[in-house]
Amino acid sequence: MTEIDNSRSDLFQLSKEMDFGDIHIKHDSETGLNAIIAIHNTNLGPALGGCRFIPYHSTQNAIYDAMRLAQGMSYKAAIAGLELGGGKSVIVKPAKIKDRQKLFAAFGRFVEELNGRYITAVDSGTNVEDMNAIATTTNYVASTSKQAIATGDPSPYTALGVRRAIEAAAKTKFNNESLDGIHVAIQGMGHVGYYLAKELHELGARLSFCDINPENISKAKKAFAGVEYSADKIFDVECDVFAPCALGGAINKETIGRLNTGIIVGAANNQLATPEIGKDLQKRDILYAPDYVANAGGLIQIAMDNEEKALTKVNNIYETVLNIFQASIRNKQTPAETADSLAKQILMQAGTKNAA
Ligand code: NAD
Repeated sequence: MTEIDNSRSDLFQLSKEMDFGDIHIKHDSETGLNAIIAIHNTNLGPALGGCRFIPYHSTQNAIYDAMRLAQGMSYKAAIAGLELGGGKSVIVKPAKIKDRQKLFAAFGRFVEELNGRYITAVDSGTNVEDMNAIATTTNYVASTSKQAIATGDPSPYTALGVRRAIEAAAKTKFNNESLDGIHVAIQGMGHVGYYLAKELHELGARLSFCDINPENISKAKKAFAGVEYSADKIFDVECDVFAPCALGGAINKETIGRLNTGIIVGAANNQLATPEIGKDLQKRDILYAPDYVANAGGLIQIAMDNEEKALTKVNNIYETVLNIFQASIRNKQTPAETADSLAKQILMQAGTKNAA
């Protein structure tokens, strides 16, 4: 579950700080639906972003989670050069679900009311069957089995993009053209972690990994030569690259001092617990590739109608990350600050163009 800072309680103040956008709330008594759709920015196109279905401590937490993730989607699409805006939705998971199919169909009606300004997709806690239920009441849904806008598992594309970002970081940090012999510690061997390990293994990288799910570990151990660590010990592994591919907030005040790596690049969203952690990483000379730049491959796959174009765009993540590192050195900013500034600039320019 995502924990948030409750002190940031004023919604309008937060909207101003995050340069929002609009937030829509729906309650449906019949199905027990309590849902939020946060649309951060549509200057570049309709807001695409997944639907989370997890429990929250409070409605405020759920709203803030949706807002933070929607902003991340705007920035991700902008930097990846996609004609998409940023949005995200949250359905607060009840203790008991009356009828899952009806709940998601009710959510689809909510999406439909926004007339295409928001397009939903799979996210934590939702699956293709849920998207199929949503598709009974709206066409504004990706990742259904019948292909509304896009279909298939985005994880291999996300993993490819993360691998390209690791290559850009290895070039910047060690002047390495290849990942042969580079030691990567992967936290989380789920969908993306597994495909990332596959990419890296094929390029001769040395692997260490962990997962809280023993099945994922045994699958990985069968496929790759790698050393397994416990979920806690992975932070202490001496490595060249630490790759967070589990949950958000992995790099925080507690873990940062334990890291024994030169580079952090992974798939997880919101890897840094706070923006200040980005500055601390820089002080410790750890090169961090902004998460939403490195993990854009999945969104690119969903957005593109053609495999070849999608692969070209995912491979471009190498150049994008390299440019962000170089600009951050020039501007004396962290890579995360540089990426945020670039994304804001792209969104502003698109807004100005639309207004003209
Ligand atoms: P997943 O659920 O398949 O994999 C996550 C893995 O992390 C699971 O195997 C889980 O057991 C493990 N895990 C959870 N807590 C852990 C811990 N404390 N220590 C070690 N392992 C732990 O998810 P995924 O699709 O592989 O995505 C991974 C991350 O990347 C998520 O944060 C997701 O939001 C983000 N992401 C995924 C995609 C995609 O295409 N799937 C795209 C962009 C971002």
